[in-house]
Amino acid sequence: MKQGSMVWMDGELIPWEKATVHVSAHALHYGSSVFEGIRAYAHPEGPAVFRLPEHMARLGMSCRLAELELPYELSVLSDAVCEVVRTSGLRSCYIRPVVFRGCGTFSVDGRSCPVHVSIVSTEMGKYLGEDALEMGVRVAVSSWRRLAPETALLAAKIGGQYVNSQLVAMEAHDRGFDEGISLDVHGFVAEGSGENVFLVRDGVITTPPPSASILNGITRQSVMTLAEEQGYEVRSELVRRDDLYLADELFFTGTAAEIGPIVQVDDHLVGDGRPGPVTRDLAEAFHAIVEGRTADRHAWLTHV
Ligand code: PMP
Repeated sequence: MKQGSMVWMDGELIPWEKATVHVSAHALHYGSSVFEGIRAYAHPEGPAVFRLPEHMARLGMSCRLAELELPYELSVLSDAVCEVVRTSGLRSCYIRPVVFRGCGTFSVDGRSCPVHVSIVSTEMGKYLGEDALEMGVRVAVSSWRRLAPETALLAAKIGGQYVNSQLVAMEAHDRGFDEGISLDVHGFVAEGSGENVFLVRDGVITTPPPSASILNGITRQSVMTLAEEQGYEVRSELVRRDDLYLADELFFTGTAAEIGPIVQVDDHLVGDGRPGPVTRDLAEAFHAIVEGRTADRHAWLTHV
């Protein structure tokens, strides 16, 4: 992993090696952190951050839900993201802001601990593998259910909640698959360990709704916009496991995964086992914007 040179930590830009945390930090023990994952793309006008205001708004919402009092205005953190990208030495990167409880108590209620904020950047190629867009990925429905709505704050990206995602990803990898898809507590399709899922059948695009315990991804929302713009019918609707098996096309969306075609679910091939035309169409529309090959008509990019 090639790292960005500088880390923004508690108001200062410091070298990567200096951005350290004490081992008694509450977040390390209890997962009391919230985070974002953001991409900056290599645009002809220089690195461009994808949907920065939306990511920062979600960070603020996650803090509110987790009762983490942000010591900085979101506008300060947005500027900090741009500064981290500018000083990273990278043409494109993945940006990871994290807000976390530091040292203060081993009590489970960590609200007396100081709140820290850091923003790091790293190089990131294709999260699902370099040839994921051409070859697609193989997924399995996980034996692990997505967290139930009454057990967690599902709209928030809270560190501790990602133990559930880790179980899904580790199980999938151990079984020889690239990724897992978890069902919600009622048995409807929820999402991947770090991606939303879409299916295409008879030209109609369907994705599970927020009520299926998903994180309402920013890429998910962007892809829905692009699909509607291209004239597709798009539905946010409950999806069953057999809908996955009957789909003509399936794909993941996510900041890390971008638009990732799925060519196999469990032992079922999706369509002819190759990324389908609708998936390719949407991936092209997405990449044309972030790579500056077409106008940024939705004002999704922030130039640093
Ligand atoms: N679901 C989960 C559980 C995630 O962690 C992510 C990644 N943030 C997503 C979906 C996709 O969200 P986004 O498109 O905002 O990255």
